[in-house]
Amino acid sequence: MSVQHIGIVGAGQMGTGIAQVCAVAGYAVHLTDTSPKALSAAVIKIDKGLVRQIEKGALTEAAKTNALAQIQTADDLSALGSCDLIIEAATEREDIKTSIFKALIPHIKPATILTSNTSSISITRLAAQTDRPEMFMGFHFMNPVPVMPLVELIRGIATDDKTFKICQEIVKRLGKTATHSEDFPGFIVNRILIPMINEAIYTLHEGVGSVLSIDNSLKLGANHPMGPLELADFIGLDTCLAVMKVLHNGLADTKYRPCPLLTKYVEAGWLGRKSGRGFYDYSGETPQPTR
Ligand code: NAD
Repeated sequence: MSVQHIGIVGAGQMGTGIAQVCAVAGYAVHLTDTSPKALSAAVIKIDKGLVRQIEKGALTEAAKTNALAQIQTADDLSALGSCDLIIEAATEREDIKTSIFKALIPHIKPATILTSNTSSISITRLAAQTDRPEMFMGFHFMNPVPVMPLVELIRGIATDDKTFKICQEIVKRLGKTATHSEDFPGFIVNRILIPMINEAIYTLHEGVGSVLSIDNSLKLGANHPMGPLELADFIGLDTCLAVMKVLHNGLADTKYRPCPLLTKYVEAGWLGRKSGRGFYDYSGETPQPTR
């Protein structure tokens, strides 16, 4: 089976980046979101992203025109009927993801592969809620998608070899590298990364250091390109909290306890860059630490 049409559900920061790289690779992209505002913002962001690639010499003007022509948007899942493979990239909540897959099934072909970009939720459990667990995979891109070279591929317990191979081929065509993780909470990247971020938030919460001291310590002392609090804001604090909850529940170990300060920020709607405030305030020219 050759994949030509890729459907993406969720046009937030990840869905937008996934749409961009798939369109540049020549796939016909069908991008959906329940929010028309998210869809129009996605098209503007993709345009800007492609302009940046032209400026870097990585893309021609003609390739940009072709890529944009490959993308169609819709606020309804019925637009995904022609897709050979669908990547779900909606909010990191199991109830939302499950209801999306259930709503999708009446519209798609029997051979359509279903995948989720979830950062942490069990692929086996999501797959079991569909009519095709053998054609279901975790397809985990990194943020920002056009820049980061990795895609983590996660097989559910029922995923067949054919589905796995098709996903590997797509990753290759996108010019990225695939790693394979077993289906355990957080997979590989977030099992390691998000507890490190959570620990940085505890360090802030306990007054060990300020936002800048913590970020500079890890940047200058551990050679991290971004500090952990800066990175948390970039990922989205709601997503970080959701992943910590999955690790805490799924691994039943108190070392994965979400920091109460992280919970408080999410309760306040301080979700990081996407909401304009998190551990930094993004309302001015340069981000300002808030603690
Ligand atoms: P986001 O908040 O930027 O976007 C989520 C989008 O999903 C929003 O546009 C929202 O309108 C849409 N949505 C919500 N319910 C929907 C529904 N029922 N149908 C269609 N669309 C719906 O979130 P994001 O950062 O893009 O994360 C999306 C997914 O990608 C999550 O599963 C997240 O864990 C995963 N992920 C995130 C990162 C990251 O760094 N942010 C990295 C890798 C994977």
